[in-house]
Amino acid sequence: MPCLIAAAAVVSSPAAAQSLAPTAQKVAAQALADPTAWTMLENLTTEIGPRPVGSPALTRARDWGVATLKQLGFQNVHVEAFTTGAWSRGAESAEVVAPYPQKLHVLGLGRSTSTPAGGITAPIVVFHSYQEMLDQPVGALKGKIAVVTQVMRKTEDGEGYGAINAQRTQGPVEAAKRGAVAYLIRSLSTEDNREPHAGAAMPGGIPAAALSPVDAEQLERIVARGQAVTIHLDLQSSFNPKAEAWNVVGEIPGRDHPEQVLVVGGHLDSWDPGTGAIDDAAGVAIAAAAAKLAAGANPPSRTIRVVMWGSEEQGGSGAAYAAAHKDEAAKIIVAGESDLGAGQIWSLRLPKGSMTTPAMTAFRSVLPGLRVIASGEAPNEGGSDIEGLMALSVPFVDFNQDATRYFDLHHSADDTLDKVKPDELAQNVAVWAAFLYTVANSDIDFRKTAQEIATK
Ligand SMILES: [Zn+2]
Repeated sequence: MPCLIAAAAVVSSPAAAQSLAPTAQKVAAQALADPTAWTMLENLTTEIGPRPVGSPALTRARDWGVATLKQLGFQNVHVEAFTTGAWSRGAESAEVVAPYPQKLHVLGLGRSTSTPAGGITAPIVVFHSYQEMLDQPVGALKGKIAVVTQVMRKTEDGEGYGAINAQRTQGPVEAAKRGAVAYLIRSLSTEDNREPHAGAAMPGGIPAAALSPVDAEQLERIVARGQAVTIHLDLQSSFNPKAEAWNVVGEIPGRDHPEQVLVVGGHLDSWDPGTGAIDDAAGVAIAAAAAKLAAGANPPSRTIRVVMWGSEEQGGSGAAYAAAHKDEAAKIIVAGESDLGAGQIWSLRLPKGSMTTPAMTAFRSVLPGLRVIASGEAPNEGGSDIEGLMALSVPFVDFNQDATRYFDLHHSADDTLDKVKPDELAQNVAVWAAFLYTVANSDIDFRKTAQEIATK
């Protein structure tokens, strides 16, 4: 990495904090032309590929993370080990047996149980909405394969996913309660192609899988022809309740207040069908590149810490991180995670009451040029790996990426490097780098600004 910029002297007066604006703008401009994030993204997706928790690939990803952070000049590079439940896909197949025999494209859901060896054959019942299935009384689906074909809505803010995701996460348990022997959903996808989208479900369900969007529509047409439809489903998987996983950490120690820490990251693990480029190699790359650019040639006043969380998809890394750092939580200035792909940041939410502070005014000076809306709302979510820190009252930010295309690709075989636009990735780095720069070189106290607003 070349030397980039000289860090400003630590500033504490309002005028001085606002004087961070010119350098923040310089940092953002440099980020737009900086290759670090793209190089990381290409290396991780090419050299490691898919990296589900519990797989040998996650171990290789851990080693890649350590080597990469060291190579970028981060200090205190280390791994923080924890154990978590890891579900692993085995052989899977699905086909219509009658009346029109044909294969279906499916992917088992995380925490799906296995069918008996050789699979199961059963009649199906199709519900066009998840609620229709929930409306069935206990026992109504006895001996049947329940199929929910509700369509996900495409939205810029990803709201379509939040609105529908219970059909994947809760569906297998709800179908089991009603007597079903297996459960299928139309993938939580906004693309019309033949790729199913994987994803986690709650434990305690039955064999469960996602159909590709077009296979779900094919089934609807077959059912609409009026005859009873029978499916053969063979889903094999294994579950390790205590798989090893790691959060990979590197720091740029602060020169004045090393104990005051900014935590930023993405997650290293991914689902298995694609190479996890948008989910979430992009987030890992954005965070590390932004931290490096924010620090420039000289250490910032406060410490910038990058975390590559090790088990977001199947859960565990955020809780492990919070448990390991609870004594330090009061010193964590702010936390953030980039985990909605590589689309541009279009809107962002800063911690409550901080918008008009000198430091955040300096930060906001970069936003018009990057076409980002500074929302007046306080954030209410910030990424699942920082939920544990949020529960410890750590201030957090929510930088909303454009999710319009994200759910075309998310958790599917199409989540690959070629889907990332380098200029959009760079825009993310620019926003995060300017933010980290202004926070790490000011004395802004987000807990205080939130309190002040509360007592006004
Ligand atoms: Zn993710």
